Amino acid sequence: MTLSNVRDLYQQVILEHYKKPKHKGKTTPVHRYQKGHNPSCGDTIELTLRLNETGDTIEDVKFEGEGCAIAMASADLMADVLRGKQIDEALEMVQRFQSMMKGQAEFPKEQRKLNVMQGVAQFPVRIKCANLTWHTLKAALETASSASLEEFISNEKDD
Ligand code: ZN
Repeated sequence: MTLSNVRDLYQQVILEHYKKPKHKGKTTPVHRYQKGHNPSCGDTIELTLRLNETGDTIEDVKFEGEGCAIAMASADLMADVLRGKQIDEALEMVQRFQSMMKGQAEFPKEQRKLNVMQGVAQFPVRIKCANLTWHTLKAALETASSASLEEFISNEKDD
């Protein structure tokens, strides 16, 4: 594929997730909740997670928020692949995604739909938009339940 084909493909997928998100809303019940903010673009995101009984596996992920197509599509794609993942696996995926945005990694076959976000790495100003949802997920998983309920995390200091 030529570069412009790749670009078209990723724009198409991103626009589709942006216009028709599959995972918008809030989980019931809410076991983890985290707000995230990307000041450089103005994107905000509120993630909710439902865990299994032992609290080590993600059963459902939903998001609400406002922002650009890349931030919203990235959240929807992330929610798509996180169901059924253990928390450890999810944290590894956070790292992998951030490496992918630096052009240093991609996802294996079963999570390959995330690779469509690789296109964003060509546009450095949008990388924070794509990373926001993963950054917020990490905070949600690392913070025990309600401690951070009303606090925004910010990815301003992120690379
Ligand atoms: Zn954005």
